[in-house]
Amino acid sequence: MKIKNGAEYIRSLREVHPRVYYKGRRIEDVTRHPATAPHVRSAAMTYALAAKKEYADLATATSHITGRRISRFTHIHQNVEDLIKKVRLLRLLGQKTGSCFQRCVGLDGINAVYSVAYEIDKKHGTGYLERFKKWLTYIQDDNLMVVGAMTDPKGDRSKGPAEQDDPDQYVHVVDRRKDGLVIRGAKLHMTGGVNSHEILIMPTMGMDERSKEYAIVCALPVDAPGVTMVFGRQTGDDRRDKGERLDVGKPSFGSVGGEAVIAFEDVFIPSDRVFMDGEVDLTGTLVYRFAAHHRANYGACKTGLMDVLIGAIACLTEVQGTAKGSHVRDKITEMTHLCETLYSSSIACSALGWPTPSGAYMVDTMLANVCKQNVTRFHFEVARLALDLAGGFIATLPSQYDLESEDVGHLVRKYFSGVAGIPPEDRMKLARLIEAMTGGTALVESMHGAGSPQAQRIMIYRESNLEKKKGLAKALLGIPGKRRERKS
Ligand code: SF4
Ligand code: FE
Repeated sequence: MKIKNGAEYIRSLREVHPRVYYKGRRIEDVTRHPATAPHVRSAAMTYALAAKKEYADLATATSHITGRRISRFTHIHQNVEDLIKKVRLLRLLGQKTGSCFQRCVGLDGINAVYSVAYEIDKKHGTGYLERFKKWLTYIQDDNLMVVGAMTDPKGDRSKGPAEQDDPDQYVHVVDRRKDGLVIRGAKLHMTGGVNSHEILIMPTMGMDERSKEYAIVCALPVDAPGVTMVFGRQTGDDRRDKGERLDVGKPSFGSVGGEAVIAFEDVFIPSDRVFMDGEVDLTGTLVYRFAAHHRANYGACKTGLMDVLIGAIACLTEVQGTAKGSHVRDKITEMTHLCETLYSSSIACSALGWPTPSGAYMVDTMLANVCKQNVTRFHFEVARLALDLAGGFIATLPSQYDLESEDVGHLVRKYFSGVAGIPPEDRMKLARLIEAMTGGTALVESMHGAGSPQAQRIMIYRESNLEKKKGLAKALLGIPGKRRERKS
């Protein structure tokens, strides 16, 4: 692996020069800018753990292409054990960062594209898989971070890609040259986009013959000519701009993932980096596999975050002198129960993993959808219980400036102290951490990341196999399988 640890990853980002904007200004160095640096540090943890002996088994794997040791974030899952190790790794990373470490989107992208490229080749006689393997070997050997780019802006959602007034609402081919394609469009909510090395573009939904020019899978460097990113705002990001220590919640790491709009304004993609071009019949399979992998992850990374939140609440109740209350214990028990239930579904959909024809392993898609659907409820309930236990001062707490003020500092110190001997700074830090982990951006991510709740409900219904269940009920009751037609 060329990039061997977190520090080398951060240095590697200084060698790429993506065009990134934030609050209307260009960011020259994402590793140093206060808005992006915390997310860089979260992603760096994926590299740091791989460098540590105690985590090497989880954080690295053996490439099935080269036999070399690689980061698990660039690995094609070869068996159920790989899927389970990934889940354990994500929870661990959630615990270490308390935030989104972003690198899973690329991992899910490469796994989905690998298995689908194989199937396109078999059906259409194309040669995408060999091209893809070549690119993937480069990613594995150099240990690069890939942003999996799926979500298009979609414009008027009552219309498909080819029916939009503005065709750029979906990424599409605008020119064909003998050595490659030119694409235009954008991808939204791109987690880790500004601190990745490569972009893997995939279609955002299943498409039909009318949308051939939109059925594109390809890879490009983040600083390819014509690529522009606009970094999104997050709750409390002004606090970071001003370099506040105490009020920032997680001083080292991001609020959630760090998302960006990535726009492609006539970007050239060489042929050897194109892995689907117009094979609309497999777009739905690709989207579904990507989504299922990512939905499986949420019961792992988010439980890592919940572990941190539960820990913060337990500490705060000690600082406030409420830890021994029976209702406090009961609520912490409930938070833990919800957290472990989520983790169970992440493990379960991995344990029931199955090999695609390419050999790459998929999670059980029904259980992966159930897993993510539960995140959209349980994470909110865990946050609600955390806020219940923390108390209203989370929302009314004075700032670090007041604590340090010559005029009012003594008042803040006096009236925000708790159990004797514990500095009020500790109570304030815990409060800010809980605020950051239960506030706006963090929970929106849990709701809509990896697909909004309705997307999972559609898939759960589609996979519910109602006919089989109806058959079970009828068999118990002795009702014949199919009703005979009545003769009139
Ligand atoms: Fe990974 Fe979770 Fe972030 Fe998605 S939300 S990129 S699964 S850490
Ligand atoms: Fe996400």
